Amino acid sequence: MRKKIVAGNWKMNLTFEEGQKLTSEIVNMLKDENIKDVITVLNPPFVHLYPVKKLIGDTANLFLGSQNCSDKASGAFTGETSAGMLASFGATYVIIGHSERREYFKESNQLLTEKTKQALANGLTPIFCCGEPLEIREAGTHEAYVKQQLTESLFDFSPEEMSKIVIAYEPIWAIGTGRTASSDQAQEMHAALRGHLASKFGKELADNISILYGGSANPGNAKDLFSKPDVDGGLIGGASLKSRDFVEIVKSF
Ligand code: PEP
Repeated sequence: MRKKIVAGNWKMNLTFEEGQKLTSEIVNMLKDENIKDVITVLNPPFVHLYPVKKLIGDTANLFLGSQNCSDKASGAFTGETSAGMLASFGATYVIIGHSERREYFKESNQLLTEKTKQALANGLTPIFCCGEPLEIREAGTHEAYVKQQLTESLFDFSPEEMSKIVIAYEPIWAIGTGRTASSDQAQEMHAALRGHLASKFGKELADNISILYGGSANPGNAKDLFSKPDVDGGLIGGASLKSRDFVEIVKSF
């Protein structure tokens, strides 16, 4: 059975106090709701990670993730944070290859392979992001484009390694724009990506990989998106900054 996952990506938002308040609210709401079959992940900026972890405590099905990690294990890389450091205080997920990092920090498919290796070597679950820009969608070559992102970054991993990776399909034109992909568009791409993974790693493995949708998901559209057979959850940006909205999305399965 594939895991259902809703991961919040705070991006570069919130002061220390705001982050503590948001986390406390989410923890309390999730405890009240007692949601059993959905994994919730909070991915705050680096400086929030440890205090957020303390607030999460032993809350059932609530986990800590980072928005990024270094492609190196340790050493003279000023300003970087290693996957080992993240794991050492209890982070269990890490977002890799978000389109903002690909675009603004020029992260290549090859670099993302190295980051994914570091995550896996330190027991973190990579949430590997992929997705096409608007012009590629409009040209109708979006499936080939996104498949190639997976091929170039992930297809040299062993089946065992691949089985530990979560995919997040995030069409760039839908991120932070309020323009969500329709649930049919999401399903079409998720099924294509699962087929692509199956072609390399086999159907059984592909059937067990969680593929999340990201891009202007909110409490109003999450139910429809999550009703699709190949949509196993969401990577949530803007709506993860409001506790009620975020928890409503978690409850949308
Ligand atoms: C994201 O940044 O991963 C994202 C999906 O953002 P938003 O939900 O705001 O579109």
